[in-house]
Amino acid sequence: MPALVFEDSLLVRYSTWLEWREAKVSEATRRANVPLVEADTVQCSHCWGQRRIFAPAPNGEGVVPHPCPACLGRGYLTTIV
Ligand SMILES: [Zn+2]
Repeated sequence: MPALVFEDSLLVRYSTWLEWREAKVSEATRRANVPLVEADTVQCSHCWGQRRIFAPAPNGEGVVPHPCPACLGRGYLTTIV
C-alpha cells in the first residue's frame, strides 16, 4: 500500500511506509552533524538567533513577531568584514 504524506505542504508518495521511514532516518542522519551556526557567522545578539522580535501589536491586542532589525530576520550575522 503506498504512503501519501504532506512534506512542506507538498503531497509526497512513497511506495511503502518502510521507504518513508528509511528516508526520514537518512535525513536525520545527514542533519546530525550539521553545525547550528555556519562558519564565519555568529548568532545575532539582538534576537539571540530567534530571527524575530516581539513588539506590541498595532491594535493594542498583545504582542506580535516582527523580523529582527539587526539581522534582517536571518538570525545570524557574518563576521567577515
Ligand atoms: Zn537578529
